[in-house]
Amino acid sequence: FIYKENKMVKICCIGAGYVGGPTMAVIALKCPAVEVVVVDISVARINAWNSDQLPIYEPGLDDVVKQCRGRNLFFSTDVEKHVYEANIIFVSVNTPTKTRGLGAGKAADLTYWESAARMIADVSKSDKIVVEKSTVPVKTAEAIEKILTHNSKGINYQILSNPEFLAEGTAIQDLFKPDRVLIGGRETPEGRKAVKALKDVYAQWVPEERILTTNLWSAELSKLAANAFLAQRISSVNAISALCEATGANITEVAYSVGKDSRIGPKFLNASVGFGGSCFQKDILNLVYICECNGLPEVANYWKQVIKINDYQKSRFVNRVVSSMFNTVSGKKIAVLGFAFKKDTGDTRETPAIDVCKGLLGDKASISIYDPQVTEDQIQRDLAMNKFDWDHPIHLQPLSPTAFREVAVAWDAYEATKGAHGVCILTEWDEFKDLDFQKIYDSMHKPAFLFDGRNVVDVEKLRDIGFIVYAIGKPLDP
Ligand code: NAD
Repeated sequence: FIYKENKMVKICCIGAGYVGGPTMAVIALKCPAVEVVVVDISVARINAWNSDQLPIYEPGLDDVVKQCRGRNLFFSTDVEKHVYEANIIFVSVNTPTKTRGLGAGKAADLTYWESAARMIADVSKSDKIVVEKSTVPVKTAEAIEKILTHNSKGINYQILSNPEFLAEGTAIQDLFKPDRVLIGGRETPEGRKAVKALKDVYAQWVPEERILTTNLWSAELSKLAANAFLAQRISSVNAISALCEATGANITEVAYSVGKDSRIGPKFLNASVGFGGSCFQKDILNLVYICECNGLPEVANYWKQVIKINDYQKSRFVNRVVSSMFNTVSGKKIAVLGFAFKKDTGDTRETPAIDVCKGLLGDKASISIYDPQVTEDQIQRDLAMNKFDWDHPIHLQPLSPTAFREVAVAWDAYEATKGAHGVCILTEWDEFKDLDFQKIYDSMHKPAFLFDGRNVVDVEKLRDIGFIVYAIGKPLDP
């Protein structure tokens, strides 16, 4: 397949984001005979992909891009030209939650997808395989097919669903050795040919038994279901963590014991301040909406609960900070260590840190934030943004404009914690494990509080230093 009529096949990916960029870089690396062009309407993003300062931080990504860029990997804003020339078009545009109109707060906003599809129809002069790389509601391929076929004549479009399962922070590793690659296509001779073409690309480095082929709707739904199951595990362990704190059980011990059951397994059982990221909440809300539209309110409510527990976990954390510090943080300095939604990424979309910081600011704290990968601009933007309330306001009241004056961004953890009354650890960055906590303690007001939202510190060691420590799901300070 890689050579079609002795000509190199060309792949174009619309959307140079967290998924489009790394995925295409790995395809280019593993398929040197294929020309891969990643296009985006954002000039700034494309310029960054073409520079030494890639637009996203992902371990190992720089290396892969350096090996292929200019050889068979290109980044361009000339969207139409490269779509016109490509045989296979991946669409990896954002599919956020709708914020207004029908389905607001739950349904996926497919505006970007639709405009990409209309543009493909406008410029295409030859047959195309169009691959859904974005996470989309089940049955989206049907809508895309309609847009494409009603807007261009004589062109055969095959739509494939090829959802991406990479996790930010380990994207390159996940792409090199995926648990599975999922390809859904139409069960027609043309559909099967298209599936085979995409399979041939992945087969360059993924073992055959890991490439799964299904019908279109199974592939689309599997991605939503996988994210819902992953988030559900986090909400399950977080729900148990609340009970641990109430009873004296220790969530680390409980999770270990539960995970030892081979039917359950040990992964994704870390209690925390809550899950974040651009996908879990959005995809579950999308699932909830699809269930409601299909007359399945009980199923919708079941999945909704996963998000409610996540919101509860964040507000529980804020309440614990405030109540521990004598029921007020007004005028007190709280250091926030970590702002990204997880370690090894600079991504802050839906990070629990936003809600925690806003909760503390709402109680008139002054906060000083340090994250090794998140810029001051990003933090200020995130905190200033009004969060769309998907169901009802649970933890946040609108902040007064003066509250934002109480946000500082520090160069390192020591600057952030100097003169603080309390420290909140909100991202599990490795460097936080090795901090000199004695030095931090010495520079803080006493009693010095430490709230570990990711269970990264050695609680006993910190208590020996003198900290009053609260760690998610762990027995409280004696
Ligand atoms: P992103 O916001 O980082 O990137 C999307 C890019 O698409 C943006 O750069 C935007 O400018 C571009 N774009 C939008 N409309 C366009 C158009 N018409 N033409 C050209 N470019 C256009 O998003 P992301 O995190 O890469 O996610 C993309 C999709 O992949 C989403 O559906 C998401 O749910 C899914 N996904 C994300 C992850 C993840 O970890 N981030 C993992 C798996 C799946």
